[in-house]
Amino acid sequence: MSYQCEFCSKFFMSKSSLNSHKLKAKYCLEIQKNIGAISEIKGSELCIHCSKEFLRKDQRQTHELSCNQIEINEYRKTIQTRDDTIAQLMNELKISNDKLDLISKDLKISNDKLCNTLTDLKVANNNVEIYKKISDEKDTLIVKLSTEKSVVNNTNCNNTSSSSSSSNRQNNIIMGHLDLSSEKIKLAVESYSLEHYNRASAGLADWCIDNLLTDNDNNLQYICSDKNRRCFQFKTESGDIVSDPNADKLKSAIKPMLSDRLRIHKKINFSKIGDESDDEDSTKSDLCIQIHNENKTMGVEFEKELVKKTYSKK
Ligand SMILES: [Zn+2]
Ligand SMILES: [Zn+2]
Repeated sequence: MSYQCEFCSKFFMSKSSLNSHKLKAKYCLEIQKNIGAISEIKGSELCIHCSKEFLRKDQRQTHELSCNQIEINEYRKTIQTRDDTIAQLMNELKISNDKLDLISKDLKISNDKLCNTLTDLKVANNNVEIYKKISDEKDTLIVKLSTEKSVVNNTNCNNTSSSSSSSNRQNNIIMGHLDLSSEKIKLAVESYSLEHYNRASAGLADWCIDNLLTDNDNNLQYICSDKNRRCFQFKTESGDIVSDPNADKLKSAIKPMLSDRLRIHKKINFSKIGDESDDEDSTKSDLCIQIHNENKTMGVEFEKELVKKTYSKK
């Protein structure tokens, strides 16, 4: 079998020798150029993508088809680069997310601590409320007990008028109403002695008890209802139980009535110092002033003396 060249009609024994002929035989290449199968004899066919040289047009066209693949590969590379960028961004996003998670955890811990503190505060606040309530209840109970005691003892007094005054004293009973009228006090002032005066608060309290705060049967009509706050109670003519914090009502009743008597006793004390003239004069006069001031002020010391004499644990 033989192979004929389609351009120059020459015969060949094999297909490979024919192909070699078509690429190399100058006269055949001339014919190929003349009929338009190739544009130039050598180096005339260039790939539009990579400018590679081809002898024949069909060879160049075949190559260009595969050369498109190169372009596709470029796109693939670009896509790959973008994929890489996206992956990197995703990674950064993950790091940011992790940081956010940490911050969120810290916030939760802080929040839990705040909640605990708030709970502690609520508990403390509740305790304060409870203590307050207990304290209020205690105060109410004290007043109620004092009132009940006085009512009970009033009844006892009516039934058994022969009960001894000393036992009544011990129970701190308000037997009848307390008379703080100026007539009563005026009369009592007559009994306020120099001895009372010189014993200052103690003497003043004794004088009050003996001449104002007890009835004819020596029953106490003025009692201490709260030892710590030095609060007292008595019954008015209309039968109401009246509270007297710091004995203010008693003090303001006796203060103006007693002031002349205090001045008189003060004069007596100073005149006594004048009789004996020695080095202790200044100390004695200091003491005189001190005694006078304590009597005049009727302060906390006086209240404490009253508490001692009018308070009963029962
Ligand atoms: Zn040929
Ligand atoms: Zn190419």
